[in-house]
Amino acid sequence: MASIFTKIINGEIPSYKVAETDDFYAFLDINPNAKGHTLCIPKKEVNRLFDLDKETYDGLMEFSRTVALGLREAIPCKRVGMSVIGLEVPHVHVHLIPLNHMGEMTFQEKVSLSPEEFEATAAAIRAQLK
Ligand code: AMP
Repeated sequence: MASIFTKIINGEIPSYKVAETDDFYAFLDINPNAKGHTLCIPKKEVNRLFDLDKETYDGLMEFSRTVALGLREAIPCKRVGMSVIGLEVPHVHVHLIPLNHMGEMTFQEKVSLSPEEFEATAAAIRAQLK
């Protein structure tokens, strides 16, 4: 069965899109640790990061870097944290989290955003990636 993230790529489930290439997709995490928390995924559905073929792995890292550079311009923060977990969704995803304190990397602290705030945040990041 297709993962929830494959359904997002295919447009069957909505997302707040941040960036897209032929092989990768970035969108806002729906339950963010901090405003701007973004997920970068390969379109190829693979469960575990280190099972990716090298080309896709390298491509995902480069794509994540590009998104992170835009993210830090769009969202004021001390730095952008990066994490790969995958215990909830079995489709490789890189978490990019604008950080101001360590708690934002623990996945215990969450912020809630309105649909309008999600859309404005995604638009602000997209604008930095042009
Ligand atoms: P993990 O697999 O533990 O890295 O966590 C999966 C992440 O995906 C969590 O941070 C969720 O909030 C996020 N997530 C799950 N479903 C969606 C969705 N439909 N849109 C955006 N983010 C999602």
